[in-house]
Amino acid sequence: GPSAESYRRQHEITVTGDNVPPPFTSFQAIGLPSEILREVLKAGFSHPTPIQAQSWSIAFQSRDIVAIAKTGSGKTLGYLLPAFRHLMRCRNNPQLGPTVLVLSPTRELATQIQDEAVKFGGSSKISSTCLYGGAPKGPQLRDLDRGTHIVVATPGRLNDILQMGRVNLGQISYMVLDEADRMLDMGFEPQIRKIVKEIPARRQTLMYTATWPKEVRKIAADLLVKPVQVNIGNVD
Ligand code: ADP
Ligand code: MG
Repeated sequence: GPSAESYRRQHEITVTGDNVPPPFTSFQAIGLPSEILREVLKAGFSHPTPIQAQSWSIAFQSRDIVAIAKTGSGKTLGYLLPAFRHLMRCRNNPQLGPTVLVLSPTRELATQIQDEAVKFGGSSKISSTCLYGGAPKGPQLRDLDRGTHIVVATPGRLNDILQMGRVNLGQISYMVLDEADRMLDMGFEPQIRKIVKEIPARRQTLMYTATWPKEVRKIAADLLVKPVQVNIGNVD
């Protein structure tokens, strides 16, 4: 409707897809579980950022998304809140394997995502495990063995652990490729493709990227199904 149009124009949001739902312009409008809403308000956030407002309403329809937005635009909660909602609806036994996978290019970024997953999901008894290279595998394997709803991982370390047969990705139904352009720049494409082979095709896939070159378009075309494309600001 006209208010969605005016919000999008005001916040430089462009959407491409059929019947794209209006953005959620307030946290209260989302109908978040009270524990999660409390954490968001406790963090001092007054409004969703544009990428959050628009990607939540699309993700809540269980649709695939490719979002092109700059660093610092609030992408982490953009995909984590829908991941939490997904877990509330179809939370499988974490002992069988994680339900949500977030791939991230670096240890630092993976750790930041893990911190947000714990901060906002912990009070809802959502568990998250972080897997990255440059650190011993032992503690990470022990965290996995304890059972986890979410895995946040760099592609290299996840692939190592996969090859050891120590993680089952057969229960994943919500997958996020964060900073997809950077993961491809770092040469992670073969690892990403190996990981995706272990994940059921029937899943929701979200891809976030700061740029939209042809390599990223190609992997999006291969891994996403009829994604809604969301552009924020002056990105091509
Ligand atoms: P990106 O992944 O796009 O670079 P982040 O998800 O890391 O961005 O968020 C950037 C910063 O903005 C973080 O410090 C985060 O806590 C903060 N933030 C996220 N959502 C909001 C919001 N709705 N209002 C204010 N600050 C927010
Ligand atoms: Mg980020």
